[in-house]
Amino acid sequence: MSVPIRAAAHTATVASVPVDTRHWIGGARVASGGWFADHSPVDGSLLAEVARGGALEAEAAVAAAGAAFPGWAATSRDERAAVLHRVADGVERRLAELANVETWDNGALLRSHLRGVMPRVVHNFRFFADRLTELAHADFDTREHTNHVSWDPAGPCVLITPWNAPLMLATWKVAPALAAGNTVILKPAEWSPLTASLLADIAAEAGLPPGVLNVVQGYGEEIGAALVAHPGVRRISFTGSVPTARRIAAAASTNLVPTSFELGGKSPLLVFADADLDLAVDLAVEQYDNAGQVCLAGTRLLVESSVAAEFTDRFVARASTLRQGDPRDAATDVGPSIHPDHVARVDGFVRRAIADGAEAVLGGGPNTDLGGLYYRPTLLTGLRPGAEALTEEIFGPVLTLQTFDSEDEAVDLANSTRFGLAAVVATGDRRRADRVTGRLVAGTVWVNCFFVRDLRAPFGGSRQSGIGREGGDWSFDFYCDLKNTVTAPKGWRTHG
Ligand code: NAD
Repeated sequence: MSVPIRAAAHTATVASVPVDTRHWIGGARVASGGWFADHSPVDGSLLAEVARGGALEAEAAVAAAGAAFPGWAATSRDERAAVLHRVADGVERRLAELANVETWDNGALLRSHLRGVMPRVVHNFRFFADRLTELAHADFDTREHTNHVSWDPAGPCVLITPWNAPLMLATWKVAPALAAGNTVILKPAEWSPLTASLLADIAAEAGLPPGVLNVVQGYGEEIGAALVAHPGVRRISFTGSVPTARRIAAAASTNLVPTSFELGGKSPLLVFADADLDLAVDLAVEQYDNAGQVCLAGTRLLVESSVAAEFTDRFVARASTLRQGDPRDAATDVGPSIHPDHVARVDGFVRRAIADGAEAVLGGGPNTDLGGLYYRPTLLTGLRPGAEALTEEIFGPVLTLQTFDSEDEAVDLANSTRFGLAAVVATGDRRRADRVTGRLVAGTVWVNCFFVRDLRAPFGGSRQSGIGREGGDWSFDFYCDLKNTVTAPKGWRTHG
């Protein structure tokens, strides 16, 4: 099925960068009708009218990915790696443009995009390109037969991503999926879709054949739901919230499509009395990065009672110096939240906690000097056990503080949610670190550090924080159909 192609270009100019806001399907810019408004969290302004896909575009994108699959799957590893390196070169060339557009679109700090996030996007492509050429064939011989294990491309992959780190999270998926020889349909989040469209341009310039990477935009319940229910899809990789994952899992079960889920968290940050308190305070303040809109954030501060008062005083003093403001300003530490609806959700948690007896010893509402989208870094204390602010992901600049008196109590509190994405431990005692990390339920545990991730390591969540792991060969495990070919040393009629 083809989507009617609009004759006129539909371009938004964001930070002086032209962004085509139509879908990119089968190597063409297309749109079949509806549009949705994309506003900036920086100042609430309208950035773009973006093509709003539905069943028609889902059908066209899966068809394009299906048609392009045999050709791309048949390319050699070296050819695919070369194209991915050229995509990385393109991202590098346009790094400043991508960083600026991303900041306008999702409100995260420009300096983070320039120094950390976009270089990481480049690395995502280079890492999986190189890893692909190193993938070992686990061949072995028995007395009678040879076994040849191959990593075969799986087919069209649907990749669905959230708004908090759009291009970085998308390319964690796009790079290994393409490296593995699959074709891709990427659907970015409706609150920050723009850099995905620029990636489509960059990939085309890098020589990725038409239909190998398709980018479609729109609402999750419209085009997202149509994509994950499509029988032509061979893999679904999703990063987002638990309720959406449930819907996707239900749809994927119809066609028994393997899914990879990177979901929410409610991660603990444990501060033991033997920790370097300056370091512990720094680690805790870091949890306000990206206005708290980080899945991995250690938002539950668990502090040993004997140092709790000193820790709290030092934390509040230090966090009070954070400068909140325009994310394009190099002096800003905390920018805006993504959307007015999201601010209302975050504030709802804080209001209900306070009504339930908690105290906001820092922040506790929007920064009215800056407008409604800038929520103050907040610390809640005095929450009753089981309070929703201790168990539900708030996904804003809101931390909670609880105390503990023993290592056992610390571990019990740390493991007391339905999530298991990450944990941070601040301690000066190596043996304690070994004991505690061994008992924490989390996909990633950081000891005296935070947010460090090498792409060779597995990444993902336990419990309701996810299913599966990405990174290193774990990505190839997911995006490939592993095949074992067993050959007998007899029956050959020709040699060669
Ligand atoms: P969300 O689940 O609302 O949306 C994520 C994506 O799913 C969007 O692109 C959306 O359009 C799409 N979607 C929504 N309904 C759909 C449906 N029925 N079928 C198919 N697609 C659908 O999540 P969000 O608010 O965009 O992101 C925030 C969440 O993401 C938080 O829970 C956060 O912790 C999580 N997250 C996790 C990680 C991780 O690596 N574990 C990283 C970043 C964010």
